[in-house]
Amino acid sequence: MSTDRIIDCISAVQRAILANERDIEALDREIGDGDHFINVRRGCAVAADMRDQLQPLSADEALNQVGLKLLSTIGGASGPLIASFFMAMGKALKGVEALDSRAFATAFSAGVDAIRSRGKADLGEKTMLDVLIPVSRLFDRMAAAGEPLERICGALKDEAHRGMISTRDMVATKGRAHFLGDRAIGHIDPGSKTCQVAIWAICDLFLERERQLQATA
Ligand code: ADP
Ligand code: MG
Repeated sequence: MSTDRIIDCISAVQRAILANERDIEALDREIGDGDHFINVRRGCAVAADMRDQLQPLSADEALNQVGLKLLSTIGGASGPLIASFFMAMGKALKGVEALDSRAFATAFSAGVDAIRSRGKADLGEKTMLDVLIPVSRLFDRMAAAGEPLERICGALKDEAHRGMISTRDMVATKGRAHFLGDRAIGHIDPGSKTCQVAIWAICDLFLERERQLQATA
């Protein structure tokens, strides 16, 4: 994936986040403190504004720069977590020549691991990780098996949706929602919704590209 592709992904995620404002806001009002959408919207705007600055950079350096910028601009618990995701992805891609699905699956896993260690959280704690961990595992498996991009994107969308829905019946053991105890049960975690929306936006972008390539082949 080239730097241009990364820039396209950022724009696609920004559009999708804005289009899902009502849903994300509603979830964060139920079990958060109502700032999650604002945090994520700011992060998207800042990253999208970096377009010209990112263009001449290599993919790893572009991701690292986005992470550094997000670290200083997004607030909340999710800011440093998302920033560490970008920086770890950049680090994992440093010196990698073939920027293919396999390389991105490995980098994505490194990004998710960074969120895990920074947030000291794991699967089943009603956070964004309930989407990110299963998606990264599946991405790794499918990319290692050499599955075509179209299949990978379709499967990752399903997995992201499943992960997001799975948070509904969980008790939160991390983040603000853990103060709610059992009262958080029945509500989807807002961070998991944001991640599902972002993953769908990126997968849809790649699926559309594949369709265009096939149409012109
Ligand atoms: P804050 O919780 O500080 O208000 P946000 O509202 O921006 O920050 O983000 C809340 C989201 O962050 C939650 O919905 C959850 O998905 C995620 N989150 C919170 N704490 C953690 C953690 N320790 N590890 C991973 N994700 C977390
Ligand atoms: Mg919040």
